[in-house]
Amino acid sequence: MINRERLTKTFCDLVSIDSPSGEEEKVRDFIENKLLKMGFQINIDSYGNLIANTEKSSKENIILSAHMDTVEPGRGIIPVVDKDTIYSKEDTILGGDCKAGLTGILEALDSLKENKHELKNLTLIFTREEEVALQGARHLDFSKINGKKAIIFDGEGPPSVITSSSPTYVGFDIEIIGRAAHAGVEPEKGISAIKIATNLINRLPQGRLDEETTFNIGRIEGGTVRNAVPSNLYIEGEFRTSSIETMDNLNQSLKTAVEDTMNEIEESQINLKSEIQFEKYTIEKDNSALKVVLNSLDKLGLTPTLKGSGGGTDGNIFMKNDIESVVIGMGVKGMHTINENVSIPDLIDCANLCENIIQQNT
Ligand SMILES: [Zn+2]
Repeated sequence: MINRERLTKTFCDLVSIDSPSGEEEKVRDFIENKLLKMGFQINIDSYGNLIANTEKSSKENIILSAHMDTVEPGRGIIPVVDKDTIYSKEDTILGGDCKAGLTGILEALDSLKENKHELKNLTLIFTREEEVALQGARHLDFSKINGKKAIIFDGEGPPSVITSSSPTYVGFDIEIIGRAAHAGVEPEKGISAIKIATNLINRLPQGRLDEETTFNIGRIEGGTVRNAVPSNLYIEGEFRTSSIETMDNLNQSLKTAVEDTMNEIEESQINLKSEIQFEKYTIEKDNSALKVVLNSLDKLGLTPTLKGSGGGTDGNIFMKNDIESVVIGMGVKGMHTINENVSIPDLIDCANLCENIIQQNT
């Protein structure tokens, strides 16, 4: 049976281990140790993702997955349990994204082990660097994975909330090159990279563009000192949309904005690089992973809610690699903020759901 005390302890243990993106080794060791004791066959792929298969495995394996990394500020997290809620004591995130998912899976396994349930036809995937444009999943060694249907714990809200769609994500980098000059002595000789950037950014859209499209300039870095005309500047931006046509139009708008700015400001140089980091999907009704989740939610008396997401998850990459995937909630609210908190009853539901899914398929 799912044990509230054990589950709360596992969660607090997990969030107390720092694992910002790129530094997941310690948390991976924690998970690996637990899984080895349960008889899983462990594979760490060349990128450092953890893949665990039960000894008895087949192409029909069900895959449960969550990511091991967390966003910043995520070091020295101190979890506080207050009645039904867990939050972080200091000004850090809690790390429920995605350690609530890890906890749900591990607690389900603990409970099944306690009941002497024989684990089979089960694959677990724990990825690195999900928060860095899904780098872990993008480098995942899919050849080591059994199974063609995956349930990914990485959504906001309770486990009855199912992500029904996710957009295409394009990231872009802009390098602006002007010319340096002394700001007081001979500013005429300079070309301000900041002025070029202002001109360019004013030509670009920002924020929510329509129901399925957003556009954001997220980071700017430029200039060196107060008294010099700045020669260099870098911009990082992104846009997300579910429409291929809108994506093409936005790519074109970016290029046009760059050309128009270079034409208007003589001798300015702008280099634009953009890349599709993940591609959109919509969950179809016949998605085999969705069927598994709906069946288990029904058995637990939970009502499913399908909700579109503006974010991407490892699900976008799994789907691209022919694994029918569904992303569900894990009891976390306020992800990526210092107000992040976890509802223990939702976390218990998450563990119950994992347990039921494993029992259904093994
Ligand atoms: Zn996440």
